[in-house]
Amino acid sequence: MTAGTAGNQRLWRLEGYFPDFDGPQMTAFKAELKDAIRQTAAAARKTPDLEPSSAAAWEKIVLALEDAQMHLEHWSSYVSCLEAAHADEEAYPRERAAINRTRAALARIEIELFRAFSAADDGFFDRFVRRPALEPIAYALERIRTRSRFRMAPEMERLATDLNLDGIQAWGRLYDRLSGKLQFSLRLADGRTEVKPISEWRSQMAHPDREVGRAAFEAGNRAWQGIEDVCAAALNAMAGVRLTLYRHRGRNHFLDEPLFAAGIGRPTLDAMYAAVRESLDLPRAFLKTKAAAMGRRDIAFFEREAPLPVAAGKPLRWSRAVGLVDRAFTDVYPALGDHFRRMLKNGWIESEARPHKRPGAFCTRSKLTGEQRVYMTFNGTLGDVSTLAHETGHAWHGHLLSGSRPWSQNYPMTLAETASIFAEHVLAEGLYTRPDVDDERKLAMLDEDLSGMAVLLLDITTRFDFESAFYAERAQGELAVSRFKELMVASQRRVYGDCLAVGGEDPYFWASKLHFYISGLSFYNFPYTFGYLLARTLVARFRREGQAFLPRYESLLAASGNAAVEVVVARTLGEDITRPAFWRDAIQGLAVDLERYQGLLPART
Ligand SMILES: [Zn+2]
Repeated sequence: MTAGTAGNQRLWRLEGYFPDFDGPQMTAFKAELKDAIRQTAAAARKTPDLEPSSAAAWEKIVLALEDAQMHLEHWSSYVSCLEAAHADEEAYPRERAAINRTRAALARIEIELFRAFSAADDGFFDRFVRRPALEPIAYALERIRTRSRFRMAPEMERLATDLNLDGIQAWGRLYDRLSGKLQFSLRLADGRTEVKPISEWRSQMAHPDREVGRAAFEAGNRAWQGIEDVCAAALNAMAGVRLTLYRHRGRNHFLDEPLFAAGIGRPTLDAMYAAVRESLDLPRAFLKTKAAAMGRRDIAFFEREAPLPVAAGKPLRWSRAVGLVDRAFTDVYPALGDHFRRMLKNGWIESEARPHKRPGAFCTRSKLTGEQRVYMTFNGTLGDVSTLAHETGHAWHGHLLSGSRPWSQNYPMTLAETASIFAEHVLAEGLYTRPDVDDERKLAMLDEDLSGMAVLLLDITTRFDFESAFYAERAQGELAVSRFKELMVASQRRVYGDCLAVGGEDPYFWASKLHFYISGLSFYNFPYTFGYLLARTLVARFRREGQAFLPRYESLLAASGNAAVEVVVARTLGEDITRPAFWRDAIQGLAVDLERYQGLLPART
């Protein structure tokens, strides 16, 4: 362990943000930000639409808005750290409310940008974004311009925003309330029945005893059946509102807005799914291997994430976890190892297990200071070690971006998991070749890894398949509960094929999956598969080309916020992601891991 005693530090240091919470520096910072926003908002309101005579004024407004947003994010990142690490404190949620109010003030300035940009003619707009101070953020400005094109008249947009509170958002809230209260009755081994909240449903379905899992699944679905009409009404209404707004905003297809948000075009999405659909046998083979290890031929849908019954082993110590990550990174990717040690030394990682911490893990950063923080709770499993590597990958991405302008650092969801999955892979490669990590642990880790792969290629594809079919039919009218069930079962059969037991489908997955009910966005699925496969392509190339690949990899991360994903990949890797062959390569690369898994299984008794 080369990081010395710093590696034992398990509490992070946050002084890089502010010396203390609500101290004089932080108070002055907030006052300055508020002032800057007020002045910028006033200037934006009185500046006429974008044309040669107002260009200098709009340049000033854009730069001020970019700067204010960076300051707001600095403040917000700091508060995210405090909220997560001290869930019992009341001051932090109050601070969050103040941040949200400030964010709304910035959004109002953005509306003025929509107004100004939509009025500019094409030739002039191109010259405007080529001004020296704006050129580095040209892509962000072009996106604002595109958004401004697919908007209704300002008074109609205002009405739509107001109606959404009682429309699409109300349906989302109704679903959240009903599903949050939902309970299911689980029959225990001794014959008693226990009523459990639906939040425990997932862990019950993953129970090592598959009969307990099945009983939980069936009991949970009886509960969903009880609110099926409300779920169907909510889905019908939410999709209906969206389709109406798309029509009025000049959007031709229900995928146009989700694709714009993801930073990719339709040909890229089609190429990816063409490759996925012709390679489904690989993830299916993994699930069949797992079923065989349990003495079966296929699995039921509810078991798709159930782990192999593997002995957990003794918990790892934090110092050992740090050593494993450090060694793996340093051996394969020295610069990533250096950054990991820098983070430890600076106290940028929070890992202590103690009360009042929120569950989960994340990485956050400040564009103002160029610092990152990793949040997690280390309980000694190999999965926790993997989480540490994953979040450090995010931090490395942030570090590589930190030299660029704030608005060219905003990457889309499709590129958000590139660096984290890559770092997880670097750790895994290191661990699989280590003789001092026993086979049982390796198998458990590989099982978790490949289960994740099966979710991304099969489960997420099922959701995309279902949602596409649903939107296409919804354009003709509302769907009945029975039709939702039919579409869902058909999607599962198409995607899972023969690794899904006949009768093992989950006809209520459209009701129980929260992602279909997020009022702010639709198709919260394909960006996951995209991000995963892109990261796997990079892994495959790294395997082939070794260290020589790393400068290209880093240039891709550094450019991730300044062009469409197709352009970023073409410029840095010289690859065309609109070709299915690109995606096929990523999926074929997974065969190595599957073989490793199949090789480790027979060693078990
Ligand atoms: Zn992540």
